[in-house]
Amino acid sequence: MEMGPLQAMIGLACRKCYKEEDVELSRCGGCRRISYCGMECQNADWKRHKPICKALTSLEKNSAAAARLVSLLPKEPSSDLQEIRKLTDEQLDIYFIHLQRQTVVEHSWIQHEPRCLVCTRTEMVMRMETGDVTQRLIPCPRCMRSFCCSPAHWEAAHTLHHGPSTDWRDGLSHCQMNMFVRMQARVDTKTSLLDRQGQLLWVPGRVKSRWVSLEGKTWEGEFDEEICKSFGMPVTIPSSSTFLISSASDTLSMPMAILYGLSKLNEDDGWTRKQKLTVHVLGADIREVSCRSVFEEILHRLPEVNTLEIVLCGPDVPSRDSFDHKICPECIARGRSCVLKCAANMYHDFVRKQGNQFATPDLCIAFNSGAAQDNLGYTWRMSIKVLVARKLPSLFTGYDREEAEGDAAMLRAAGAAFHPLLGPCLNPWGSQKAHPTTHSAYGFHVDNGWLAGGFK
Ligand SMILES: [Zn+2]
Ligand SMILES: [Zn+2]
Ligand SMILES: [Zn+2]
Ligand SMILES: [Zn+2]
Ligand SMILES: [Zn+2]
Repeated sequence: MEMGPLQAMIGLACRKCYKEEDVELSRCGGCRRISYCGMECQNADWKRHKPICKALTSLEKNSAAAARLVSLLPKEPSSDLQEIRKLTDEQLDIYFIHLQRQTVVEHSWIQHEPRCLVCTRTEMVMRMETGDVTQRLIPCPRCMRSFCCSPAHWEAAHTLHHGPSTDWRDGLSHCQMNMFVRMQARVDTKTSLLDRQGQLLWVPGRVKSRWVSLEGKTWEGEFDEEICKSFGMPVTIPSSSTFLISSASDTLSMPMAILYGLSKLNEDDGWTRKQKLTVHVLGADIREVSCRSVFEEILHRLPEVNTLEIVLCGPDVPSRDSFDHKICPECIARGRSCVLKCAANMYHDFVRKQGNQFATPDLCIAFNSGAAQDNLGYTWRMSIKVLVARKLPSLFTGYDREEAEGDAAMLRAAGAAFHPLLGPCLNPWGSQKAHPTTHSAYGFHVDNGWLAGGFK
Protein backbone atom coordinates (compact mmCIF):
# COMPACT_ATOMS: atom_id res chain seq x y z
CA MET A 1 0.00 0.00 0.00
CA GLU A 2 1.65 3.18 -1.16
CA MET A 3 0.46 6.39 0.48
CA GLY A 4 3.53 8.57 0.17
CA PRO A 5 4.64 11.01 2.82
CA LEU A 6 2.12 13.18 4.63
CA GLN A 7 3.53 16.26 2.91
CA ALA A 8 2.21 14.90 -0.39
CA MET A 9 -1.11 13.93 1.16
CA ILE A 10 -1.73 17.44 2.40
CA GLY A 11 -0.69 19.09 -0.86
CA LEU A 12 2.69 20.45 0.31
CA ALA A 13 4.71 18.13 -1.91
CA CYS A 14 4.26 16.67 -5.38
CA ARG A 15 1.84 13.75 -5.20
CA LYS A 16 3.96 11.76 -7.66
CA CYS A 17 7.66 12.43 -6.93
CA TYR A 18 7.18 13.82 -3.37
CA LYS A 19 9.49 16.78 -4.08
CA GLU A 20 8.67 19.73 -1.88
CA GLU A 21 11.72 21.96 -2.01
CA ASP A 22 12.84 24.01 -5.03
CA VAL A 23 9.71 23.19 -7.00
CA GLU A 24 6.68 25.20 -7.97
CA LEU A 25 3.67 23.10 -7.12
CA SER A 26 0.36 23.48 -8.89
CA ARG A 27 -2.98 22.03 -7.90
CA CYS A 28 -4.87 19.43 -9.85
CA GLY A 29 -7.39 21.46 -11.84
CA GLY A 30 -10.11 18.88 -11.25
CA CYS A 31 -10.35 18.16 -7.51
CA ARG A 32 -7.97 20.98 -6.42
CA ARG A 33 -7.04 18.64 -3.63
CA ILE A 34 -3.44 17.66 -4.41
CA SER A 35 -0.43 19.20 -6.13
CA TYR A 36 2.14 18.29 -8.75
CA CYS A 37 5.55 19.71 -9.61
CA GLY A 38 4.68 19.74 -13.31
CA MET A 39 2.81 18.16 -16.19
CA GLU A 40 5.16 15.21 -16.35
CA CYS A 41 4.31 14.06 -12.83
CA GLN A 42 0.64 14.91 -13.24
CA ASN A 43 0.35 12.86 -16.44
CA ALA A 44 2.25 9.96 -14.93
CA ASP A 45 -0.06 9.94 -11.90
CA TRP A 46 -3.34 10.40 -13.77
CA LYS A 47 -4.28 6.74 -13.99
CA ARG A 48 -4.03 6.38 -10.23
CA HIS A 49 -5.60 9.72 -9.49
CA LYS A 50 -8.46 9.75 -12.00
CA PRO A 51 -11.12 7.78 -10.06
CA ILE A 52 -10.77 9.77 -6.84
CA CYS A 53 -10.43 13.05 -8.74
CA LYS A 54 -13.72 12.43 -10.57
CA ALA A 55 -15.44 11.33 -7.36
CA LEU A 56 -14.31 14.42 -5.47
CA THR A 57 -15.31 16.72 -8.32
CA SER A 58 -18.79 15.21 -8.40
CA LEU A 59 -19.06 15.49 -4.62
CA GLU A 60 -18.14 19.15 -4.83
CA LYS A 61 -20.92 19.72 -7.39
CA ASN A 62 -23.50 17.83 -5.32
CA SER A 63 -25.64 20.53 -3.76
CA ALA A 64 -27.24 18.28 -1.13
CA ALA A 65 -23.82 17.15 0.09
CA ALA A 66 -22.58 20.74 0.02
CA ALA A 67 -25.53 21.89 2.13
CA ARG A 68 -24.88 19.11 4.68
CA LEU A 69 -21.15 19.82 4.85
CA VAL A 70 -21.69 23.55 5.32
CA SER A 71 -24.43 23.00 7.91
CA LEU A 72 -21.98 20.98 10.05
CA LEU A 73 -19.67 23.96 10.56
CA PRO A 74 -19.78 25.38 14.08
CA LYS A 75 -21.15 28.91 14.53
CA GLU A 76 -18.09 29.98 16.52
CA PRO A 77 -14.47 28.79 16.39
CA SER A 78 -14.10 26.02 18.96
CA SER A 79 -11.12 24.95 21.03
CA ASP A 80 -12.97 21.89 22.29
CA LEU A 81 -10.95 19.13 20.64
CA GLN A 82 -13.64 16.52 21.13
CA GLU A 83 -16.20 18.67 19.40
CA ILE A 84 -13.76 19.35 16.55
CA ARG A 85 -13.07 15.63 16.22
CA LYS A 86 -16.80 14.84 16.16
CA LEU A 87 -17.48 17.44 13.47
CA THR A 88 -14.56 16.14 11.41
CA ASP A 89 -15.87 12.58 11.65
CA GLU A 90 -19.32 13.69 10.54
CA GLN A 91 -17.82 15.47 7.54
CA LEU A 92 -15.77 12.42 6.64
CA ASP A 93 -18.89 10.23 6.80
CA ILE A 94 -20.43 12.38 4.06
CA TYR A 95 -17.24 12.03 2.02
CA PHE A 96 -17.14 8.28 2.40
CA ILE A 97 -20.77 7.77 1.44
CA HIS A 98 -19.90 9.49 -1.84
CA LEU A 99 -16.54 7.81 -2.27
CA GLN A 100 -17.63 4.32 -1.31
CA ARG A 101 -15.93 2.52 -4.13
CA GLN A 102 -12.56 4.17 -3.68
CA THR A 103 -9.61 2.25 -2.36
CA VAL A 104 -8.04 2.48 1.07
CA VAL A 105 -5.08 4.30 -0.47
CA GLU A 106 -7.06 7.40 -1.21
CA HIS A 107 -9.06 7.22 2.00
CA SER A 108 -5.87 7.81 3.95
CA TRP A 109 -5.21 11.13 2.27
CA ILE A 110 -8.86 12.17 2.51
CA GLN A 111 -8.47 11.68 6.26
CA HIS A 112 -5.44 13.95 6.26
CA GLU A 113 -7.13 16.69 4.25
CA PRO A 114 -6.05 20.10 5.55
CA ARG A 115 -8.78 21.74 7.62
CA CYS A 116 -9.18 24.74 9.88
CA LEU A 117 -8.01 23.89 13.40
CA VAL A 118 -10.97 25.54 15.12
CA CYS A 119 -13.90 25.14 12.71
CA THR A 120 -13.01 22.09 10.52
CA ARG A 121 -13.49 23.99 7.23
CA THR A 122 -11.65 22.38 4.33
CA GLU A 123 -10.85 24.23 1.12
CA MET A 124 -13.59 22.28 -0.61
CA VAL A 125 -16.14 23.40 1.97
CA MET A 126 -14.89 26.98 1.55
CA ARG A 127 -15.45 26.71 -2.20
CA MET A 128 -18.89 25.19 -1.62
CA GLU A 129 -19.84 28.10 0.64
CA THR A 130 -18.68 30.89 -1.65
CA GLY A 131 -18.44 29.42 -5.13
CA ASP A 132 -15.00 31.04 -5.27
CA VAL A 133 -12.40 28.53 -6.48
CA THR A 134 -9.47 30.66 -5.28
CA GLN A 135 -10.41 30.18 -1.59
CA ARG A 136 -7.40 28.92 0.38
CA LEU A 137 -6.72 27.90 3.95
CA ILE A 138 -3.94 29.89 5.62
CA PRO A 139 -1.00 27.74 6.73
CA CYS A 140 0.90 28.45 9.95
CA PRO A 141 3.99 30.35 8.76
CA ARG A 142 6.23 28.44 11.17
CA CYS A 143 5.33 24.79 10.70
CA MET A 144 3.36 25.04 7.41
CA ARG A 145 1.56 21.94 8.60
CA SER A 146 -1.55 23.36 10.30
CA PHE A 147 -4.22 25.56 8.80
CA CYS A 148 -6.98 28.00 9.62
CA CYS A 149 -9.67 29.43 7.34
CA SER A 150 -9.16 33.09 8.33
CA PRO A 151 -6.89 35.40 10.39
CA ALA A 152 -9.66 35.54 13.02
CA HIS A 153 -9.62 31.77 13.35
CA TRP A 154 -5.83 31.78 13.62
CA GLU A 155 -6.26 34.12 16.58
CA ALA A 156 -8.75 31.69 18.12
CA ALA A 157 -6.35 28.77 17.49
CA HIS A 158 -3.27 30.51 18.92
CA THR A 159 -3.15 28.88 22.37
CA LEU A 160 -4.15 25.48 21.00
CA HIS A 161 -1.41 25.55 18.39
CA HIS A 162 1.40 27.46 20.14
CA GLY A 163 0.80 26.72 23.82
CA PRO A 164 2.69 23.84 25.50
CA SER A 165 0.92 20.50 25.59
CA THR A 166 0.97 17.92 28.35
CA ASP A 167 0.00 15.22 25.87
CA TRP A 168 3.39 15.09 24.23
CA ARG A 169 6.97 14.79 25.29
CA ASP A 170 8.79 17.80 26.75
CA GLY A 171 5.60 19.89 26.73
CA LEU A 172 6.19 20.80 23.10
CA SER A 173 3.51 22.82 21.36
CA HIS A 174 1.45 21.44 18.51
CA CYS A 175 3.43 23.72 16.17
CA GLN A 176 6.78 22.41 17.47
CA MET A 177 5.56 18.81 17.14
CA ASN A 178 4.61 19.56 13.53
CA MET A 179 8.09 20.91 12.82
CA PHE A 180 9.68 17.88 14.45
CA VAL A 181 7.55 15.48 12.41
CA ARG A 182 8.44 17.36 9.25
CA MET A 183 12.18 17.29 9.90
CA GLN A 184 11.94 13.63 10.84
CA ALA A 185 10.25 12.83 7.53
CA ARG A 186 13.04 14.62 5.65
CA VAL A 187 15.79 12.80 7.51
CA ASP A 188 14.01 9.47 6.98
CA THR A 189 13.71 10.07 3.23
CA LYS A 190 17.27 11.32 2.85
CA THR A 191 19.10 8.77 4.98
CA SER A 192 17.20 5.87 3.37
CA LEU A 193 17.88 3.76 6.44
CA LEU A 194 14.31 2.61 6.78
CA ASP A 195 13.15 -0.77 5.57
CA ARG A 196 10.11 -1.34 3.36
CA GLN A 197 7.77 -1.06 6.33
CA GLY A 198 9.29 2.34 7.11
CA GLN A 199 11.17 0.99 10.11
CA LEU A 200 14.71 1.34 11.29
CA LEU A 201 15.52 -1.94 13.00
CA TRP A 202 18.54 -1.31 15.17
CA VAL A 203 19.89 -2.93 18.32
CA PRO A 204 23.25 -1.86 19.76
CA GLY A 205 25.76 -4.67 19.19
CA ARG A 206 26.88 -5.01 22.79
CA VAL A 207 25.98 -6.94 25.89
CA LYS A 208 25.95 -4.83 29.05
CA SER A 209 28.06 -6.18 31.90
CA ARG A 210 25.18 -5.93 34.39
CA TRP A 211 21.57 -4.82 34.64
CA VAL A 212 21.28 -1.10 35.32
CA SER A 213 17.95 0.37 36.33
CA LEU A 214 16.21 2.52 33.71
CA GLU A 215 14.95 4.93 36.34
CA GLY A 216 15.71 8.53 35.41
CA LYS A 217 17.37 7.47 32.14
CA THR A 218 16.51 8.86 28.71
CA TRP A 219 16.66 7.66 25.12
CA GLU A 220 19.44 10.14 24.38
CA GLY A 221 21.47 9.25 27.46
CA GLU A 222 21.17 5.53 26.83
CA PHE A 223 21.62 5.38 23.06
CA ASP A 224 23.26 8.58 21.77
CA GLU A 225 26.85 7.38 21.72
CA GLU A 226 26.00 3.89 20.51
CA ILE A 227 23.84 5.02 17.62
CA CYS A 228 26.45 7.57 16.50
CA LYS A 229 29.11 4.89 16.53
CA SER A 230 26.86 2.46 14.75
CA PHE A 231 26.01 4.85 11.90
CA GLY A 232 29.40 6.59 11.74
CA MET A 233 28.20 9.97 12.94
CA PRO A 234 30.24 12.43 14.99
CA VAL A 235 29.15 12.40 18.63
CA THR A 236 30.54 15.88 19.07
CA ILE A 237 27.60 17.69 17.53
CA PRO A 238 24.90 17.63 20.17
CA SER A 239 21.64 16.11 19.00
CA SER A 240 23.06 15.13 15.59
CA SER A 241 21.58 11.74 16.37
CA THR A 242 18.17 12.92 17.55
CA PHE A 243 16.35 11.80 14.44
CA LEU A 244 18.21 8.50 14.24
CA ILE A 245 17.28 7.70 17.84
CA SER A 246 13.76 8.76 17.10
CA SER A 247 13.54 6.36 14.15
CA ALA A 248 15.15 3.50 16.06
CA SER A 249 12.94 4.11 19.10
CA ASP A 250 9.85 3.38 17.04
CA THR A 251 10.58 -0.33 17.33
CA LEU A 252 13.09 -0.31 20.22
CA SER A 253 10.33 1.02 22.45
CA MET A 254 8.97 -2.55 22.58
CA PRO A 255 11.89 -4.18 24.43
CA MET A 256 12.44 -1.01 26.49
CA ALA A 257 8.79 -0.95 27.65
CA ILE A 258 9.08 -4.64 28.56
CA LEU A 259 12.21 -3.97 30.65
CA TYR A 260 10.64 -0.93 32.28
CA GLY A 261 7.46 -2.84 33.13
CA LEU A 262 9.40 -5.78 34.56
CA SER A 263 11.56 -3.50 36.72
CA LYS A 264 8.51 -1.75 38.17
CA LEU A 265 6.31 -4.82 38.72
CA ASN A 266 9.01 -6.75 40.56
CA GLU A 267 9.96 -5.81 44.13
CA ASP A 268 13.62 -6.77 43.73
CA ASP A 269 16.14 -7.52 40.96
CA GLY A 270 15.65 -11.30 41.09
CA TRP A 271 14.03 -11.25 37.66
CA THR A 272 17.26 -9.93 36.11
CA ARG A 273 19.08 -13.10 37.17
CA LYS A 274 16.62 -15.70 35.96
CA GLN A 275 17.92 -18.46 33.72
CA LYS A 276 14.91 -18.00 31.47
CA LEU A 277 12.66 -14.98 31.03
CA THR A 278 9.25 -15.32 29.40
CA VAL A 279 7.17 -12.52 27.91
CA HIS A 280 3.72 -12.90 26.39
CA VAL A 281 2.79 -10.25 23.84
CA LEU A 282 -1.00 -9.88 23.67
CA GLY A 283 -2.73 -8.66 20.53
CA ALA A 284 0.48 -9.16 18.55
CA ASP A 285 0.41 -9.15 14.76
CA ILE A 286 2.76 -9.21 11.80
CA ARG A 287 4.51 -6.03 13.01
CA GLU A 288 6.00 -7.73 16.07
CA VAL A 289 7.08 -10.59 13.82
CA SER A 290 8.81 -8.27 11.36
CA CYS A 291 10.49 -6.36 14.20
CA ARG A 292 11.51 -9.42 16.19
CA SER A 293 15.25 -8.67 16.04
CA VAL A 294 14.83 -5.72 18.45
CA PHE A 295 13.81 -7.99 21.32
CA GLU A 296 17.48 -8.98 21.61
CA GLU A 297 18.00 -5.69 23.47
CA ILE A 298 16.37 -7.42 26.46
CA LEU A 299 19.15 -10.05 26.45
CA HIS A 300 21.72 -7.29 25.96
CA ARG A 301 20.62 -5.50 29.12
CA LEU A 302 20.24 -8.67 31.19
CA PRO A 303 23.60 -10.47 30.90
CA GLU A 304 22.61 -13.11 33.48
CA VAL A 305 19.53 -14.29 31.60
CA ASN A 306 20.29 -17.19 29.30
CA THR A 307 17.07 -17.68 27.38
CA LEU A 308 14.47 -15.16 26.38
CA GLU A 309 11.16 -16.66 25.32
CA ILE A 310 8.66 -14.41 23.62
CA VAL A 311 5.19 -15.69 22.81
CA LEU A 312 3.43 -13.57 20.19
CA CYS A 313 -0.23 -14.07 20.80
CA GLY A 314 -3.08 -12.69 18.71
CA PRO A 315 -5.50 -13.71 15.96
CA ASP A 316 -3.38 -11.91 13.34
CA VAL A 317 -0.10 -13.62 14.19
CA PRO A 318 1.07 -15.95 11.37
CA SER A 319 -0.10 -19.45 12.21
CA ARG A 320 3.16 -21.30 12.66
CA ASP A 321 4.89 -22.54 15.76
CA SER A 322 8.00 -20.46 15.94
CA PHE A 323 10.38 -18.21 14.06
CA ASP A 324 13.98 -18.80 13.33
CA HIS A 325 15.59 -15.91 15.09
CA LYS A 326 19.28 -15.07 14.68
CA ILE A 327 21.04 -13.34 17.54
CA CYS A 328 24.42 -11.62 17.62
CA PRO A 329 27.76 -13.56 17.67
CA GLU A 330 28.48 -12.51 21.24
CA CYS A 331 25.17 -13.95 22.49
CA ILE A 332 25.70 -17.14 20.46
CA ALA A 333 29.21 -17.55 21.87
CA ARG A 334 27.73 -17.37 25.36
CA GLY A 335 25.21 -20.06 24.47
CA ARG A 336 22.23 -17.75 24.88
CA SER A 337 19.03 -17.93 22.90
CA CYS A 338 16.01 -15.89 21.99
CA VAL A 339 13.01 -18.08 21.24
CA LEU A 340 10.06 -16.58 19.43
CA LYS A 341 6.82 -18.56 19.53
CA CYS A 342 3.55 -17.84 17.80
CA ALA A 343 0.03 -18.42 19.04
CA ALA A 344 -2.64 -17.33 16.58
CA ASN A 345 -5.30 -16.93 19.27
CA MET A 346 -6.88 -14.36 21.49
CA TYR A 347 -5.08 -14.53 24.82
CA HIS A 348 -7.98 -16.03 26.79
CA ASP A 349 -8.24 -18.82 24.17
CA PHE A 350 -4.49 -19.33 24.32
CA VAL A 351 -4.58 -19.72 28.11
CA ARG A 352 -7.56 -22.08 27.94
CA LYS A 353 -5.93 -24.24 25.25
CA GLN A 354 -2.73 -24.48 27.28
CA GLY A 355 -4.67 -25.96 30.19
CA ASN A 356 -2.30 -27.43 32.78
CA GLN A 357 0.64 -26.59 30.54
CA PHE A 358 0.15 -22.88 31.14
CA ALA A 359 3.07 -21.33 33.00
CA THR A 360 2.85 -17.81 34.39
CA PRO A 361 5.07 -15.55 32.27
CA ASP A 362 7.31 -12.85 33.75
CA LEU A 363 5.25 -10.26 31.90
CA CYS A 364 2.18 -9.98 29.71
CA ILE A 365 2.38 -6.91 27.53
CA ALA A 366 -0.19 -5.40 25.15
CA PHE A 367 1.34 -2.81 22.82
CA ASN A 368 -1.05 -0.06 21.68
CA SER A 369 -3.93 -2.42 22.39
CA GLY A 370 -6.75 0.07 21.92
CA ALA A 371 -8.65 -2.36 24.13
CA ALA A 372 -11.45 0.08 24.87
CA GLN A 373 -12.27 0.66 21.21
CA ASP A 374 -15.81 -0.45 20.38
CA ASN A 375 -15.10 -3.23 17.92
CA LEU A 376 -12.36 -4.75 20.05
CA GLY A 377 -13.96 -4.26 23.45
CA TYR A 378 -15.55 -7.64 23.93
CA THR A 379 -12.58 -9.86 23.13
CA TRP A 380 -10.16 -7.69 25.11
CA ARG A 381 -12.51 -7.80 28.09
CA MET A 382 -12.32 -11.60 28.02
CA SER A 383 -8.52 -11.52 27.91
CA ILE A 384 -8.27 -8.88 30.64
CA LYS A 385 -10.48 -11.04 32.87
CA VAL A 386 -7.92 -13.84 32.57
CA LEU A 387 -5.01 -11.49 33.39
CA VAL A 388 -6.73 -10.17 36.52
CA ALA A 389 -8.13 -13.51 37.72
CA ARG A 390 -4.74 -15.23 37.39
CA LYS A 391 -2.85 -12.22 38.75
CA LEU A 392 -0.53 -12.21 35.73
CA PRO A 393 2.00 -9.35 35.71
CA SER A 394 0.73 -7.14 32.91
CA LEU A 395 1.35 -3.86 31.14
CA PHE A 396 -0.82 -2.08 28.56
CA THR A 397 0.43 0.76 26.36
CA GLY A 398 -1.43 3.18 24.12
CA TYR A 399 -0.84 5.56 21.22
CA ASP A 400 -2.04 8.68 23.03
CA ARG A 401 -3.64 10.02 26.18
CA GLU A 402 -7.18 9.32 25.04
CA GLU A 403 -6.47 5.70 24.22
CA ALA A 404 -4.48 5.15 27.42
CA GLU A 405 -7.18 6.63 29.61
CA GLY A 406 -9.86 4.58 27.84
CA ASP A 407 -7.89 1.38 28.38
CA ALA A 408 -7.12 2.35 31.99
CA ALA A 409 -10.84 2.72 32.76
CA MET A 410 -11.53 -0.67 31.22
CA LEU A 411 -8.70 -2.36 33.16
CA ARG A 412 -9.78 -0.80 36.45
CA ALA A 413 -13.37 -1.88 35.84
CA ALA A 414 -12.05 -5.44 35.48
CA GLY A 415 -10.42 -5.15 38.91
CA ALA A 416 -6.82 -4.31 37.97
CA ALA A 417 -4.94 -2.38 40.69
CA PHE A 418 -2.29 -0.27 38.98
CA HIS A 419 1.30 0.27 39.96
CA PRO A 420 1.40 4.05 40.59
CA LEU A 421 4.21 4.64 38.06
CA LEU A 422 2.74 2.53 35.29
CA GLY A 423 -0.11 4.67 34.13
CA PRO A 424 -2.05 6.22 32.83
CA CYS A 425 0.95 8.45 32.08
CA LEU A 426 3.49 9.25 29.36
CA ASN A 427 5.78 6.28 28.81
CA PRO A 428 9.44 7.31 29.32
CA TRP A 429 10.35 4.53 26.85
CA GLY A 430 7.66 5.27 24.30
CA SER A 431 8.71 5.86 20.72
CA GLN A 432 10.19 9.30 20.04
CA LYS A 433 8.59 9.32 16.61
CA ALA A 434 5.20 10.99 16.30
CA HIS A 435 2.70 10.21 13.56
CA PRO A 436 -0.04 12.76 12.82
CA THR A 437 -3.39 11.22 13.70
CA THR A 438 -5.75 10.58 10.81
CA HIS A 439 -9.24 12.08 11.15
CA SER A 440 -7.84 14.93 13.16
CA ALA A 441 -6.25 18.29 12.46
CA TYR A 442 -4.68 18.27 15.87
CA GLY A 443 -3.37 15.05 17.37
CA PHE A 444 -0.40 12.74 17.09
CA HIS A 445 -0.02 9.15 17.99
CA VAL A 446 3.16 7.61 19.21
CA ASP A 447 3.90 3.90 19.41
CA ASN A 448 3.72 2.93 23.08
CA GLY A 449 3.69 6.66 23.80
CA TRP A 450 1.52 6.22 26.87
CA LEU A 451 1.29 3.61 29.60
CA ALA A 452 -2.35 2.73 30.16
CA GLY A 453 -1.73 0.61 33.24
CA GLY A 454 0.58 -1.96 34.80
CA PHE A 455 -0.64 -4.44 37.41
CA LYS A 456 -0.28 -7.95 38.76
ZN1 LIG B 1 6.69 15.64 -9.19
ZN1 LIG C 1 -7.58 15.83 -9.00
ZN1 LIG D 1 -11.98 28.29 10.57
ZN1 LIG E 1 2.59 25.95 13.35
ZN1 LIG F 1 23.26 -10.38 21.27
